[in-house]
Amino acid sequence: MSSFNFDVITLFPKAFELINNLGVITRALDKNLIDMKLHDLREFGEGSYRQVDDKPYGGGAGMVLKPEPIYKAYESIRKLPKSKTLLMTPQGKVLKQKDLARWSILDQIIIICGQYEGFDERIRCLADEEISIGDYVLSGGEIPAISIINGLTRLLPGTLGDPDSLVDESHNSSLLEYPQYTRPLTFKDMKVPDILVSGNHEEINLWRRQKSIERTLERRSDLISNANHKESPQIDGIINESNQFIELNKGNEYDVYPDW
Ligand code: SAH
Repeated sequence: MSSFNFDVITLFPKAFELINNLGVITRALDKNLIDMKLHDLREFGEGSYRQVDDKPYGGGAGMVLKPEPIYKAYESIRKLPKSKTLLMTPQGKVLKQKDLARWSILDQIIIICGQYEGFDERIRCLADEEISIGDYVLSGGEIPAISIINGLTRLLPGTLGDPDSLVDESHNSSLLEYPQYTRPLTFKDMKVPDILVSGNHEEINLWRRQKSIERTLERRSDLISNANHKESPQIDGIINESNQFIELNKGNEYDVYPDW
């Protein structure tokens, strides 16, 4: 099986050393499930100083990445048949789990990382998609790129020991994952719910589904209201029950996050 290819254009290739210390992701590299090529923007810089940035036209703070080095770096990359180019920018579409799943069936993702005040507007046309990892501003696109590489790699067959762990997890459907427990049975007076040690798998599945819904309503009701619930005709009943549950729980710690 051929590897999934990540090609990253960056001024800070060293930032990607983190990938070599990320557990299952590092193993995916070792097993050749992924291949990561770093294209150092500095090598495509201009003149003896290998200049990659310049002052913005019209004035203003900071430096902007010049278009020529990014174009040259981009053109040096061998494109595979199923390839997409992502531009890291806080002005992009906010990354969702379904984007990672959508890209995981490609052969190659090319990621362009900005730095400083950003990049010359004329590189936007290189990108198939502009992606933000959230409504905040980081100093460069490297951490967003690592997030994408990490999130996508764990979806590739062979990366996780047990692929079932992908099925129930948060953001896979419009529901957050149910609460999880491991040994010991009692920890600091907190006991694992009886149902989980009952051995009744049908009841356990029902309990988990109920908890997933309660938890999603409690923390991220936007996920449920944005989703289409054809998958479960009973969901309205459970949502009503869960709304009552939330009423009972007003005053819990989630009140400190009024936007949740
Ligand atoms: N002045 C720019 C922000 C520059 S931040 C603006 O207002 O839009 C510098 C670089 O960091 C960006 O070019 C981008 O590549 C990266 N970056 C910062 N925050 C990001 C985010 N939330 N998502 C993705 N990339 C981000």
